[in-house]
Amino acid sequence: MIRHLSLKAYGKINLGLDVLRKREDGYHDVRMIMQTVRIYDHIDIDLRREPGITLSTNLFYLPVNENNLVYKAAKLLMDEFGITQGVNIRLKKIIPVAAGMAGGSSDAAAVLFGINKMFRLGLSQQELMTRGVKLGADVPYCVMRGTALSEGIGEILTPLPPPPHCKVLIAKPGISVSTKAVYENLHANELKPDQHPDIDGIIQAIQSQDLASLCHKMGNVLETVTLRQHPVIRNIKDFMMEHGADGAIMSGSGPTVFGLYSDPDAARTTYEQFHYAQSNELAKQVFLTEFFHNRNHFTKGENQ
Ligand code: ATP
Repeated sequence: MIRHLSLKAYGKINLGLDVLRKREDGYHDVRMIMQTVRIYDHIDIDLRREPGITLSTNLFYLPVNENNLVYKAAKLLMDEFGITQGVNIRLKKIIPVAAGMAGGSSDAAAVLFGINKMFRLGLSQQELMTRGVKLGADVPYCVMRGTALSEGIGEILTPLPPPPHCKVLIAKPGISVSTKAVYENLHANELKPDQHPDIDGIIQAIQSQDLASLCHKMGNVLETVTLRQHPVIRNIKDFMMEHGADGAIMSGSGPTVFGLYSDPDAARTTYEQFHYAQSNELAKQVFLTEFFHNRNHFTKGENQ
């Protein structure tokens, strides 16, 4: 029996994000290029005799009850399989919260993986993904990870080869953006053709390992909403482009911006520049990282 599991829940960025239309049921049909990055939350699961789930986290403002996706993910599997033992879960957040990096979804995916392993439930990756979509549209992708085209509301996934190697600079301004509000303000059915990013072009650039073309084609239709409302997002993009980025766009519904750098020195210098006085106003959280490709890497450690 596994008594302790340490897991890594990786964040993602969107190399492309298009919204095709608003559906009758209120959901949006999307086409997104998802990419895992090497920034992760730490999740520790400990088995205990008493039933139930307890959760603690390093961020005081996150819920530690059923409203946390970690709790929901554990409960979903433990209820379904009638597990009578309990778990203590510790969540250490590193991925910026409500930032467009699917932090909560990734935590949920890691916990589905962890509970499946700890209690030897024998669920396949596909079976975890099917359960994951009940927790959120991005959860199935977070179970799969790597590079993928995501369609439907996010549940139809096609794996893609890894993009060309580069440095990824990630900067989140000190503002909050509500995903729901961004989609409500999008008016997806009234977008002009040139407002839609060329998702097929991005896929082609990835397949041909052409970083220049990838950076040229990257785009996020949700910027049509957020850039108007939050000029700081544009300022971060401009700052990255003026400091050697080959391309820079917003991730998800924002407000996080990422820049791709073929020149690692330029990426490092810009990372440091973000910490200087004036640029401090731009971003509150900054990371210098890389793409992450290992689809089967959740576990950091385990004790029997
Ligand atoms: P996405 O890219 O999928 O839109 P996001 O980065 O915008 O995700 P998250 O960080 O996943 O957003 O979380 C958004 C909200 O969900 C937070 O305001 C928080 O209160 C709630 N939440 C619930 N569980 C978690 C969790 N484990 N980590 C972070 N937020 C969580």
